[in-house]
Amino acid sequence: MNAVRPLVAREDFPILARPMRGDQALVYLDSGATAQRPRAVLDAMVDFDTRSNGAVKRGSHLLAEESTVAYEEARAKVAAFIGAAPQEIVWTSGSTQSLNLLAYAISNATAGRGWGNADRFLLRAGDDIVVTRAEHHANLLPWQELCERTGARFTWLDLDSEGRIDPATLAVIGRRTRIVAFTHVSNVTGAVSPVAQIVEAAHAVGAFTVLDACQSAPHLPVNVRELDVDFAAFSGHKMYGPTGVGVLYGREELLADLPPYQFGGSMIERVTMEKTRYARPPARFEAGSQPVTQIVGLARAVDYLSAIGMENVARYEDELTAQLLAGLGQIPGIRVLGPRTGAGRTGIAAFTVDGVHPHDVGQFLDARGIAVRVGHHCAQPIHDFFGVPASVRASVGIYTTSSDIDAFLDALSQVRGYFR
Ligand code: PLP
Repeated sequence: MNAVRPLVAREDFPILARPMRGDQALVYLDSGATAQRPRAVLDAMVDFDTRSNGAVKRGSHLLAEESTVAYEEARAKVAAFIGAAPQEIVWTSGSTQSLNLLAYAISNATAGRGWGNADRFLLRAGDDIVVTRAEHHANLLPWQELCERTGARFTWLDLDSEGRIDPATLAVIGRRTRIVAFTHVSNVTGAVSPVAQIVEAAHAVGAFTVLDACQSAPHLPVNVRELDVDFAAFSGHKMYGPTGVGVLYGREELLADLPPYQFGGSMIERVTMEKTRYARPPARFEAGSQPVTQIVGLARAVDYLSAIGMENVARYEDELTAQLLAGLGQIPGIRVLGPRTGAGRTGIAAFTVDGVHPHDVGQFLDARGIAVRVGHHCAQPIHDFFGVPASVRASVGIYTTSSDIDAFLDALSQVRGYFR
């Protein structure tokens, strides 16, 4: 197979120059867990901290003013990146918090508390929440727990023989379904979900849709209006930004009716000893001081991705994925979990190696400077589906090159011989 021309300058990512385990080049194939940050992102954060750091929306001085501007400009930038309006972007610490925020806000929905029509979020015993068997635990446990708290029934879409969400199981979405929460891209199989079909089935019964865009936002064009989802969550650190920042997108008219879930500074209009009036979204969901430096870093990461263009990112990663899957298919004893062709999937490949424990595979590769993820990847139900407790996962990013894939495949082809 012809080598794919690199998409970005490797030098943009300082960590990639770090020698590993002696003097070996780093082959970083763990972007699905966390992506490396370009210098532009690191510089933007240092610049903010060395020039502008001040309390957002709380001061009358120049630094506070500059911080507030940076904070809101970042919101507008992230909103534009996913086709949303700035007031539809709630800052969180990451997808996990975004999804928990939503689940807790929904369980706080109590009629007549002065934050609009919260009744629309009420869950009653006998209502359903639908997820899929392909979820990361972050988009499964908040809903399972919400069912425990409310008496709603927890149910799920199942998978076809390849491990894709099976549209034939959409019939579990019914009259009593209130929420359908599903991943855009599986963090185990890389399969892209049939979003349009799921959204259509959910909206047909008046259910809200929640998209886990953690594994799609860094790799595909994501437009929440075109996808027609009601809520979406993603994390800064998987899209070349820092840890500690993430996003909950919510359709404006839904956020307007959603009760807060955390209470404190910056999320109120008026507090008296008798009663409090809460701020409009997004401030209502942003209690306390926010990770402004990280938010600035995420906005810079969005600039970096936008300058490349998400269509170009997707096309580039598709080519690497094809190379990766073709190579895995040629190594005896490798079982790829999920679709084995590049169509309808992204650059994540989880696999097992016959007779070798995933942790041993990970160590073998690490000794050669190759970083992959091993374990269940916070997705035990889909591992149960494949009948394995754990797997090795290689995942690509914008800085991954054809030679990275070659180096990985070459090392992997030696694993079984080594452990024999
Ligand atoms: N959803 C998916 C599909 C993920 O891959 C991850 C992280 O691995 C998460 C949610 C949780 O993201 P975070 O740990 O950034 O909150």
